[in-house]
Amino acid sequence: MKIHITYTGGTIGMISTPHGLTPGADMRGWLNRLIEGTQVSQEQVSFTELNPLIDSSNATPESWQAIIDDLWAAHDESDAFIVLHGTDTMSYTAAALSFAMTEFGKPIILTGSQLPLGLIESDATANVTGAINAALSMEAQGVTLFFGHHLFSGSRVTKNSSWAFEAFKSPSMSPHALTGAPWRWFPVTQTGEGWPKPNPYTRHDVAVVDMVPGISAARVKAAVTPEPEAVILRSYGVGNIPANEPGLVDVFAKLIEHDVPVIICSQCQQAVVLVGHYETGDAIAQAGAVGAEDMTFEATYAKTMFLLSQGLKGKKLAAWIPHPIAGELTSTKLTSTKQ
Ligand code: ASP
Repeated sequence: MKIHITYTGGTIGMISTPHGLTPGADMRGWLNRLIEGTQVSQEQVSFTELNPLIDSSNATPESWQAIIDDLWAAHDESDAFIVLHGTDTMSYTAAALSFAMTEFGKPIILTGSQLPLGLIESDATANVTGAINAALSMEAQGVTLFFGHHLFSGSRVTKNSSWAFEAFKSPSMSPHALTGAPWRWFPVTQTGEGWPKPNPYTRHDVAVVDMVPGISAARVKAAVTPEPEAVILRSYGVGNIPANEPGLVDVFAKLIEHDVPVIICSQCQQAVVLVGHYETGDAIAQAGAVGAEDMTFEATYAKTMFLLSQGLKGKKLAAWIPHPIAGELTSTKLTSTKQ
């Protein structure tokens, strides 16, 4: 069993500087010491370090692609893959990899830590050994994220704490596994149509607009001017917006008229979006907005970026939102809409 580790940056390998934490630790040396004396030998583990190592707050769709390229380059020589990543945007990267790697055929496990390696109080050792154990298990499938004793589906996970060691959760799907003696594995019922030979990720103009009490149509209009390639509207609850605010729905209706997809997700971490269930969501539903169902915000954003990178636009892109590609949502809609 061979494991490839791709190190991208993040707190796990950071050191203190006068300007704050930044990558700089000897990751390879630390990994070697971590596995020394265990059942894993150094020869079993290959390692690449992306250049530059980044704080994941600086990640872009090009950073997602750099990870994908590194994983494919090591595909034939390894049986399982670990990506060491900053926690801030790890759930975006996990979702992005899920959409782009449906044909990879080998497990990919992302992990990182809340505190740098080498500190006695750090969670780095527990998370990296957990990821290695998941890799060795032969049970992990697809893209997953190991953190704080849980192995989650990569397309279902969200960061929910800036400080807790249990920093991630999967609000609409149970975890794949829970650590313990022995680990407990749960059946995974994730379906998706997959995406053979996807185009690389490229950066696109996606506007994210949050609803708040008292927001005006003028503010929303300014947020979507010039017109972006897609809009993700963070609504209340099951897809409700302040529809009584004069002109507000019209801003979104105009975008849809111009074939800009308007995708409605929820500010609730755990939600099933049912646009039009309430009167406050009816007008935007009639205008043609599409609901993100039970996708996380991160999966909705990464999916939109993925579809734009595949050259899909407007209604064709919107048609893919309720259809699972990589198990990112709970749906029975598996009929192909790909064109
Ligand atoms: N800012 C860091 C990062 O995302 C936070 C972390 O890794 O915990 O790279």
